[in-house]
Amino acid sequence: MAAAITAARQNADVTILEHMDRVGKKLLSTGNGKCNLTNMNIQEDCYRCSQKGFPMKVLSKFGVEDTLSFFEELGLMTKNKNGYLYPNSEQASTVLDLLRLELSRRKILVVNGCRVKKIRHENSPQRFKIETDSKTFQGDSLILAAGSKAAPFTGSDGSGYELAKDLGHRIILPLPALVQLRCEGSHFKALAGVRCEAQVSLYCDEKKMAEDLGEVQLTDYGISGIPVFQVSRFASRALAEGKTVKAVLDFLPSLSTEETRTFFSRRRERLRHLACSDFLAGIFHKKLAAVLLKQSGIPAGQLTGQTGSGAWNRLLKKIKCFESTVTATNSFEQAQVCCGGVDTRQIRPENLESRLVPGFYVTGELLDVDGICGGYNLQWAWSTGCLAGKSAGG
Ligand SMILES: Cc1cc2nc3c(=O)[nH]c(=O)nc-3n(C[C@H](O)[C@H](O)[C@H](O)COP(=O)(O)OP(=O)(O)OC[C@H]3O[C@@H](n4cnc5c(N)ncnc54)[C@H](O)[C@@H]3O)c2cc1C
Repeated sequence: MAAAITAARQNADVTILEHMDRVGKKLLSTGNGKCNLTNMNIQEDCYRCSQKGFPMKVLSKFGVEDTLSFFEELGLMTKNKNGYLYPNSEQASTVLDLLRLELSRRKILVVNGCRVKKIRHENSPQRFKIETDSKTFQGDSLILAAGSKAAPFTGSDGSGYELAKDLGHRIILPLPALVQLRCEGSHFKALAGVRCEAQVSLYCDEKKMAEDLGEVQLTDYGISGIPVFQVSRFASRALAEGKTVKAVLDFLPSLSTEETRTFFSRRRERLRHLACSDFLAGIFHKKLAAVLLKQSGIPAGQLTGQTGSGAWNRLLKKIKCFESTVTATNSFEQAQVCCGGVDTRQIRPENLESRLVPGFYVTGELLDVDGICGGYNLQWAWSTGCLAGKSAGG
């Protein structure tokens, strides 16, 4: 939609081909229905791409300020929540409604229920022939904005990868990202429903790949929550390469290991009369306390004062380094985005035009670029869409 509007502003005659019954379905699910449409804090490490530097080259041509002007022109008032930007209405539908009104004002033809099956490229005017399940469309330029494989119920079923591949583009294996991690261990059943502050570190073959801090959600199959989402794409890639992946949780991230040791030994002196389960339940969620004790081999009813230092050391290790083997990620259905996609080395960063097929543009999540949580993926969609639209329309 951003690409179409920008192209139409260049006086181009624009048609959107959409196979769902309406455009922008995914947008309605974003930000828990509130649409976190961008972020004031855009930095290189907010994006991952096989070609380092590519995302920032694009974002330097069309960044947050440009996005805000684009939406202001459509009539959107935004709200800044600690750098995370939302529509003031806190309704994703506001963003979609304003985009659709502009499509209509610019007389952009939207053909819904129209699945693109094949793209042919010829060296002639009207060089693109786009075969759909109903008829063939023609155009001078073509912007492929078909999304990834994440959340396919919104329409992004991965067909865009095939269309780009047919035209000769390399596809870096798309995998779920911003997704939950499934872990080994029957204790997760006992932990289901616990939410707690933790540091998540991800190791691949004993080497740390990524870490993040925040509210972790423990589920009956493993771990979820924003910090897990932020590191998940590294687990996805490593698992696909057959590597061993471990997640290590630190349940007292505000204290160093030494500070935790001191804190516990002082508490032990004071609270010798408490059962170990009550001692720990004063710090952690009861379900978590029970699992920590069990995993350390300490009977829940044993008095704190009667627990030896070997057992305390085991407990401290569990609290600071709760290690789990990651067996899989959840599927594309549950993922918010994909890592992988059209290789950016075949795409020009200044306008998203293919280096292989003149007049053919690739935008958004279809590209091998994934952002962290926080408005970065939609910003990527707006930036790539508007740059491609400007070039294609011009
Ligand atoms: C639950 C959820 C929450 C999210 N929250 C946020 C958030 O708050 N902030 C943020 O920045 N990002 C968020 N994201 C990610 C963000 O929504 C996507 O990165 C973004 O929508 C990608 O835009 P896109 O235009 O590339 O693809 P999409 O939005 O997926 O659009 C692609 C369109 O192409 C259509 N299409 C696909 N194939 C064909 C075909 N063959 N023929 C015709 N039409 C086709 C699809 O139906 C779809 O309408 C979230 C994602 C999910 C799933």
